[in-house]
Amino acid sequence: MRMQETHMNTNPSVTVVIPVFNEEGALPELIRRSLAACEKTECLYEILLVDDGSSDRSRQMIAEAAETYYGKIVGVLLNRNYGQHAAVMAGFGHARGDIVVTLDADLQNPPEEIPNLVTSILAGYDVVGTVRVPRQDSAFRKIGSWVVNRFAQRSTGVIMHDYGCMLRAYRKHIVQAMLDCHERSTFIPILANSFARHTTEIEVHHEKRPVGDSKYGLWKLINLQFDLLTSMTTFPLRLLSVVGAIISFFGVGFGIFLLISRLIMGSDWAAEGVFTLFAVLFIFIGAQFIGMGILGEYIGRIYHDVRARPRFFVETLAGQSRIAQ
Ligand code: UDP
Ligand code: MG
Repeated sequence: MRMQETHMNTNPSVTVVIPVFNEEGALPELIRRSLAACEKTECLYEILLVDDGSSDRSRQMIAEAAETYYGKIVGVLLNRNYGQHAAVMAGFGHARGDIVVTLDADLQNPPEEIPNLVTSILAGYDVVGTVRVPRQDSAFRKIGSWVVNRFAQRSTGVIMHDYGCMLRAYRKHIVQAMLDCHERSTFIPILANSFARHTTEIEVHHEKRPVGDSKYGLWKLINLQFDLLTSMTTFPLRLLSVVGAIISFFGVGFGIFLLISRLIMGSDWAAEGVFTLFAVLFIFIGAQFIGMGILGEYIGRIYHDVRARPRFFVETLAGQSRIAQ
């Protein structure tokens, strides 16, 4: 008994968070394989199945599984569909483990990778990302991912190759940091990396979706990209000023060119001032853009303040002060 107690104390606990949206076909196998994988970690574990407002039997199946595997599976049932990332955040809110693993429900990410992720975290990393090899998605999705990964690498400064894959592991304090961000639109892998100190990546298998269809239609994908962009940066707002400055600059240059040409070649050449009108127009259009850009700068600052992300996180406090509380 004693042995077991110490064994439990030294081993960290693991929470697996799985968002589920109309995945009735995949659920039985998902639950079976996830339980088996968690047993392999030899840690205390819980599997949080977050139902993201499914309209099929998923909700009921999750509730049943939570009863059958009481203590191991917990169902977090949302009232309606909020989207994958919101669902994962809802799961985070109930996670109790020292290590939190996220996973898709559709079995594209094999649950068998859970022990590997846990091992990687225990090697001293805060966030463990994954690279899908070989990636079993359409070319359109792959190209989209490539662009996104490039942007994300730049904005977070963390070199990870695959921001799209949700098979990931986080230490508890990273999850807590994400929960302390009260913004509405989140893109979890990027948010996590902005708080992480040590990150690594491992290669994982990726399968074709065995049942059901992708829950991301074109519209949802576009939405996700905007969430991603706005969660990373307010640079597009500044871009307005930059574009304005370029247009104005071009207008002024054009005006000077017209003036000189007219002096040299006479008024006939300048088509009675029509081109001059263009030059003036460009200058004004540019000025408008600059004006919008300045508004954008203020809006960007308002956005940052409204979002109210914590400015920093104290990971650990070393030592103790002599001054009594
Ligand atoms: N998902 C969700 N809410 C949504 C859309 C998707 O919880 O509104 C879940 C879905 O059940 C799956 C995961 O997010 O577990 C990834 O979805 P999907 O496999 O459809 O995305 P893809 O693999 O095509 O990127
Ligand atoms: Mg999928």
